[in-house]
Amino acid sequence: MTTCVLCGMGESVADAAGTGVRACAVCGWIVGDVPDADLPRPRVDVVYYLRWEGRIKIGTSAQPRRRLAAIRHEELLAFEQGDRVVEHARHVQFAHLREGGEWFRADAELVKHAAALAGATPPWHSHARWVADALRRNVS
Ligand SMILES: [Zn+2]
Repeated sequence: MTTCVLCGMGESVADAAGTGVRACAVCGWIVGDVPDADLPRPRVDVVYYLRWEGRIKIGTSAQPRRRLAAIRHEELLAFEQGDRVVEHARHVQFAHLREGGEWFRADAELVKHAAALAGATPPWHSHARWVADALRRNVS
């Protein structure tokens, strides 16, 4: 078993279609494919939902690992694909819960919204999948 060269998280599994192709269980990157070092990594903008105590920050970043490391939080609730446009729409949608800046009261409504976005997939796994998908689009 080797970990995925792209996301570094997944183990390889045979694909569901039974073609004999092995791919990362987390991001779907095909085992044996090497990301082209000459190509820039694709930009994947996400809106993130970060909980700290009774509040949730809704923000956006194209480099969420770096961004989240700089923000005090207890839990990453979800990622959603999107940039400032989506972020702004969410700020408007939850304006009645706004406590200041990008922080919102962690009401059931907002918690439920984030949980629905994440589904059963850990947020970092979703992110790895989006990056792999974007990379595949660039290559093909
Ligand atoms: Zn992977």
